[in-house]
Parts: sequence; structure tokens; C-alpha cells
Amino acid sequence: MEANPNNNPDKLHRIIIKHPALTEGKVKSVYDVDAHRVMIKYHDKVTAFDGKKKAKPETKGRICCLISELLFTYLEKQGVKTHYIDCPSLDTMLCRKLTIVPIEVIVRNIAAGSVVKNTTLDEGMVISPPLVEYFLKDDAKGDPLLTPDRIRLMGIDPEPMYHIAKDVNLHLQEIFSQLDLDVVDFKLEFGYDADGELYVADEISPDSMRLWGKDGRSNDKDIFRKYGSDEALIAAYGDILVGLRQFAV
Ligand code: 5GP
Repeated sequence: MEANPNNNPDKLHRIIIKHPALTEGKVKSVYDVDAHRVMIKYHDKVTAFDGKKKAKPETKGRICCLISELLFTYLEKQGVKTHYIDCPSLDTMLCRKLTIVPIEVIVRNIAAGSVVKNTTLDEGMVISPPLVEYFLKDDAKGDPLLTPDRIRLMGIDPEPMYHIAKDVNLHLQEIFSQLDLDVVDFKLEFGYDADGELYVADEISPDSMRLWGKDGRSNDKDIFRKYGSDEALIAAYGDILVGLRQFAV
């Protein structure tokens, strides 16, 4: 395949070295490329509890970038529009420039985490049909739960995100069933391009999902949240990357 000169890794890498980030997240930085594209660098960092717990596990950035690349590519093949364009290096992703919707969309197939903490549901309860929830993306406000009516008052239509999230859930369940993992829940973010087209944005990796093995063990960021072990975290994420490469794409 002929290389696209616009995606030249050296040129794109100089953007990261020479220019300040557009935004610095807890584990990723976003750099401006041109009118239509950004570059996202995945760092060797893991955080939990609003950044109160953190570590810098080596290789974590590239593992999450490569898992996200595989999952975005798979979703694109299934007809889901994502911001992914290319991976010019192991830990950087070239993506569409979008206006990010300030909402985290969570899909749940099994009760865990905040839905157990904030309701009467028991951990492990199967949720069928899956639950789609919306949270305001605002750390200072504690990412509160939103209702569809509140979202509409914010001038945003939740319906398209709802349908895409349900669709993504089916595709993720399909892939991870091949790795003998249950998709307990996951978070999606969305953004609009200049033409008003909606895309799945951010990252899809075990950092933003719960994946339980058939033995009920976590294969996701809960390893770090619960036990603080970044070595075990990297081992689990590495297995997922190897598994996805083998089965999914
Ligand atoms: P919960 O609402 O139970 O805390 O999270 C539900 C799912 O969404 C989990 O898989 C969790 O990892 C993911 N999630 C929720 N909020 C965030 C966030 O701010 N960042 C990331 N990376 N994942 C999140």
C-alpha cells in the first residue's frame, strides 16, 4: 500500500515535539495537526479515583493505543463511525478533529461499579436489555448522572449516541466473547465534525471498560483501582492485545 504523505510518522512526530498540546488529559495528550486532524498521544500513565491514585507503568500507553486501534478498526468495518484515522507510531493515533460532546455514555450488561454503589442492584446482576447511562464530563462537578431531558435542555440530542452505543455494545460483546471475556460495562465519548457528523471518539480499551473472565476476575482498570498493581494491569492488558490480534481483526 502506498504511504499517505499526510500521515508521515516523522512529520507527525515533530508536531508532538514542537507544539504544546491542545489538551492534556490524565493519560493522553491531544495535539493539533491541521484543520481536520489531531494527534493523540497515549502516555505510560494510569489513574483512578479522579487522579488521586496514579502510576506510570511502562508500555501502558502503547498497549492502550494498539488495543484502541484494533477496536476502532473493527468497529469501522462494522459500519460504526469513529474518529480513528491511523496509528503513525505505537503510542500515537491520528484522529479526526471533532467538537467533543461533554457527556460520557456508559453501557452496562452486568451490574458493577457506580450502578451498584448508587442503586439497590447487586454486583454481577445481568442487565438485560443493556442499560445506557449518561454522565456530565466535568471532574469539578463530580461527573453527575444526567437524564435524557437534561441533555436535551443542554441543546444536545441523546438519541443518536444511544443507538450507536447499543450497536457498539453488540460488536464489543461479539469480539470479547472470542477471548472468553464478558463485557460488563464500558464508556464511550462522542464528537461532531464540522459537517455535524457524529463519531465515536476518545479511546476504547480496558482503561474504559470492565471485562470479566469466566472465573469472574477483572481484566481491566479495576485491577489497578482495587489492588493498585500496575504489573498485573500490564499483564492483563497485554493478554487482551495478543488475544485481539489473534481473533478479532
Ligand atoms: P462506573 O460508572 O461504574 O464508575 O464506570 C462504568 C464504566 O465506564 C467502567 O468500565 C469505567 O472504567 C468506565 N468509566 C467511567 N468513567 C470513566 C472515566 O472518566 N474514564 C475512563 N477511562 N473510564 C470511565
